[in-house]
Parts: sequence; C-alpha cells; structure tokens
Amino acid sequence: MKEKTGYPPSLITAEMIAPCGMNCALCIGFLRERRPCAGCNGDDTHKPKHCVECAIRHCEEMGQDAGGFCTSCSTLPCARLKRLDKRYVAKYGMSMLENLKAIERLGLERFVEQERDRWTCPGCGSLICVHQEECMVCGRARGEAEAA
Ligand SMILES: [Zn+2]
Repeated sequence: MKEKTGYPPSLITAEMIAPCGMNCALCIGFLRERRPCAGCNGDDTHKPKHCVECAIRHCEEMGQDAGGFCTSCSTLPCARLKRLDKRYVAKYGMSMLENLKAIERLGLERFVEQERDRWTCPGCGSLICVHQEECMVCGRARGEAEAA
C-alpha cells in the first residue's frame, strides 16, 4: 500500500477561514497532493473556477474590508450564503453559518483552535477533509469527529 502523508491540524490557520465561514483547510482542493489550492484568501493559481468566481467572495457588501467576514454584513445571512450553507449542512455535515456565529462568539483565534480539535482524526491525528466521509490518511469514518 502507498504510504500517505498525514496533514497536521496546524494547517488550520486564521488565513484559511474564508469570509463566508468556510474553513478552506478542510477542503479537498487544499488537501489534495497535486496542484493544491491556497484557499479563498490565497492566490487564484490553483483555485477551482467556482471559487475564483464566487459571488460571496466578491460581494459588494464586503467592500474594502479585506480579510473580513460576512459577520459584519447587515444582510447576513443573505440568500447566497443560506444556499451555500444549506448545501454544506446536507452534504457534508458542516455549517458556514454556525462557523460565523462561533467566530463572533469566540473570536477568530479561538474558533481556529476549536476547528483544530473538531477536525483532527481520532484515529491518526491527521486533518479530516470536510468533503470526504472518511479520513484520507487512515480511512477512519468521520462520525466521531463531528460532535464538536
Ligand atoms: Zn485518520
């Protein structure tokens, strides 16, 4: 069997949290070995097209507030974000809106710490991908890691 590299939970940093509350460090686009994406806040080189063109990322309400979050928006949650959130809750068991609430409640740094705990595989200590049902490294089912 091919020896795989574990992704350390320390890859979750404040920069990896997108304006919508998505934790880009959990994305398959970031965790893949070939041409990994740098995340929403990173450069566009290997970013998926739908993320480069993301309406939330380029929302006019975001204005000049670089590195800001949708939490500062008066229309939160807008229809776009609600749609995205609904899809992620249903498909991946993760809510951007819950993340944004946690960022408001805890502050970004503590949210990041909480995310590291939440998305660390109890089987091997690697970072769990939100888009996969099992740990990409040891194959353990994601179930238990979601209870945070
Ligand atoms: Zn694992």
